[in-house]
Amino acid sequence: MSGTPPLSPSQVPVGVDPARPSIARIYDGFLGGKNVYDVDRAVMEKINAVAPEAVDIARANRRFLGRACRFLATQTAIEQYIDCGSGLPTSENTHQIVQRTRPDATVVYVDNDPVVLAHGRALLEENDFVHMVEADVFQSQTVLTDPTIQRHVDFSQPLVLLHVATLHHLEGQHAPEVMRQYVDALPSGSYVVFSHFLDPENEATQVAKKIEQVMLSGPLGAGRFRSTAELAEILSGLEIIQPNATTGPGIVACDAWWPDGPRLAPASLAAQCIAGAVARKP
Ligand code: SAM
Repeated sequence: MSGTPPLSPSQVPVGVDPARPSIARIYDGFLGGKNVYDVDRAVMEKINAVAPEAVDIARANRRFLGRACRFLATQTAIEQYIDCGSGLPTSENTHQIVQRTRPDATVVYVDNDPVVLAHGRALLEENDFVHMVEADVFQSQTVLTDPTIQRHVDFSQPLVLLHVATLHHLEGQHAPEVMRQYVDALPSGSYVVFSHFLDPENEATQVAKKIEQVMLSGPLGAGRFRSTAELAEILSGLEIIQPNATTGPGIVACDAWWPDGPRLAPASLAAQCIAGAVARKP
């Protein structure tokens, strides 16, 4: 990395400070989880006040994660997954989706939030192929050289790297470089599952800007909505998989990534503000 960039707020673990909101708990709250503290609820209320449909961002993102994992488990023979910024355990976690098709697949979860780590160790490490690592996912070398990852992931064989709803919490211009460092370590034939807050540069931009303002100006201090071009830069060097039957390879709203069926109701403006892609390392 050119120079050492200042730490983003999301790189400083929230610890047990009840006065500091947590990205993981807020996201879990939007998904209907019960782990929110008062300080998290206050941020959620501010977001809801400017964008009542903000919940659609979390839901669209999590549905995308599920479809992408199912796709890779069924359409590739890959049996090792690194899930960076895995979040609190919820109804369908990466290993449950993948192991339904590939029971022996290894999944290593990585996060820096102590509540995620505590719940993750209790609930996620339910079989010998699932592991939880505490690390800053924006420090790629720390993650890649972590002893648990080194022990359980074979970097001579293709693997799946998930960076789902993480890199928008990294401030500055370093996201492409962080991703490139990960991608450099992946063997050919590996896949990246990626999602990120999107400024769709249309009528939904106003929603993106309002939520970004709340996230950046409040105690959370992180949450950037980047343009499609900026997201494409993060995935540069990778082959983006065609995202649906009618769109050429590229980055689309999470809800447009191989949806389960035809859309019967229009997407809310908020749902257009989270983009997803699955990409292959050539
Ligand atoms: N990937 C999951 C998903 O999409 O459903 C969870 C996404 S949640 C919005 C973001 C997660 O990234 C949280 O669990 C948070 O603790 C984690 N996170 C944010 N910054 C991080 C960092 N610097 N290092 C490790 N984890 C981080």
